[in-house]
Amino acid sequence: PPLYKQRYQFIKDLVIKYKPKKVADLGCADCTLLWMLKFCKCIEVLAGLDIRENVMKERMHRLSPLPADYLQPSERSLTVTLHHGSVAHKDPCMLGFDLVTCIELIEHLGAAELEKFPEVVFGFMAPAMVVISTPNSEFNPLLPGVTLFRHSDHKFEWDRAQFQNASTRYDYTVEFTGLGTPPPGSEDVGFCTQIGMFVRKYPKNGEAVNSEKHTEHAYKTVSISLY
Ligand code: SAM
Repeated sequence: PPLYKQRYQFIKDLVIKYKPKKVADLGCADCTLLWMLKFCKCIEVLAGLDIRENVMKERMHRLSPLPADYLQPSERSLTVTLHHGSVAHKDPCMLGFDLVTCIELIEHLGAAELEKFPEVVFGFMAPAMVVISTPNSEFNPLLPGVTLFRHSDHKFEWDRAQFQNASTRYDYTVEFTGLGTPPPGSEDVGFCTQIGMFVRKYPKNGEAVNSEKHTEHAYKTVSISLY
């Protein structure tokens, strides 16, 4: 399957393995990953955030309950909420999540947004687990036609050392993996997509959580689907 589908499947497999109840997808674009995750029975809360509201709305109807969902209500309750906003801003709606995914998001952030991103995700949202994927620039020479970056909207593409150095500064343990294996003879360039899996080292201190609840809202709610 194409790499983007492998990335979604990677997250779905992780959800099946760890059974998080609350999952947020940052940079959710047309909500394809959220739509796939809505079928995971362990999930009770799904949230999506993107800075491009129109892209998020394009295929958002997929997140609404179907007639069958009303006719055969399931045991679990599920709430799917879409927010319009930036990962450079804190909003209390992103507190208390078990898993936060950032799939091919960070390379789209400008310098000022990228600088705020870790404090927002690891410091403020502070979910139990964070998964970040981004292109591995060491793989680029194997991709036909790629001169600088894989996409014109990419602000940077990191090699493995750059991603790993940026990833070890938080109160999270991190393991690196990836998707898209190089052809025989080029094994040393690593995966096409690099993935960091971050697990919070300490339980979130209750006092900090309470004070953060007073943070003002920065995102706009675009849609809420209740199952
Ligand atoms: N995660 C999706 C996937 O894997 O198919 C979409 C990846 S797309 C390459 C990057 C997405 O990040 C776009 O939908 C873009 O609008 C969004 N994005 C860019 N900057 C953002 C920001 N500051 N806050 C939230 N989303 C942002």
